Amino acid sequence: MTHPHQLHALAAAWSLHHALTVLEEWARDWGDTTTTDVSIPSQVFGRRTALGGHGDPTAAAALGAWAPGTPNPHAALLGDMMRELDALAAHLPGAPGQDPLARIRARIPAMRPHVAARTRHALQHLDGKVRDRLNLGPDLTHVPGECPACHARGVLYAHTTDPARPIVCGAGCRCAGDGCPCGMPVRAEGVEHIWGPGTPLWDGLARPVVARDQPTAAAPADIHDIALPEQVAP
Ligand SMILES: [Zn+2]
Ligand SMILES: [Zn+2]
Repeated sequence: MTHPHQLHALAAAWSLHHALTVLEEWARDWGDTTTTDVSIPSQVFGRRTALGGHGDPTAAAALGAWAPGTPNPHAALLGDMMRELDALAAHLPGAPGQDPLARIRARIPAMRPHVAARTRHALQHLDGKVRDRLNLGPDLTHVPGECPACHARGVLYAHTTDPARPIVCGAGCRCAGDGCPCGMPVRAEGVEHIWGPGTPLWDGLARPVVARDQPTAAAPADIHDIALPEQVAP
């Protein structure tokens, strides 16, 4: 059974995947509109595969070559992010140079909860840096209904770039552990509530959102194109 720390970490990984995809587009657009002789090889930034376009084995080398004094700040930031992800994924299965974010994401379901929690925070840190640059809000969309834990209304949001579309409580309520009325299959004290498929809340609220956003069975690579950023109330 998926631990809530793992659900949060997966959502963070998909969020970062989307943010990096947009950053990649910015970097490519910058390259297209400047007259410098630094062009962005499309084989580095232009790839779109199910694993995302960030893991081309040549990308790190190419980005590294541009890093100091590069005229393309978005490519430089993307390079920084890839180096940080490479470091995070260094001990994970998979060859160095393979998409580090995809390797991290694939590993999350097997992580111990406290490792998943640390991974989530590391990914969110990178996600925040990229979204600051892009002025991009969180990948969340409001869903109607009442939080089964804190009973606030109008505070539920579904992650739009995580294919599982987990729901979170924007009021920031945390699980009380055993006896908590949240209905999460794994009640973990202190964790922000998150509900995935198979929970009554998700099946009742997120399924219609998924059906609306995803009329056909889209591959994960297509899902991050759905942009429904909405700010969560602090
Ligand atoms: Zn709540
Ligand atoms: Zn709870």
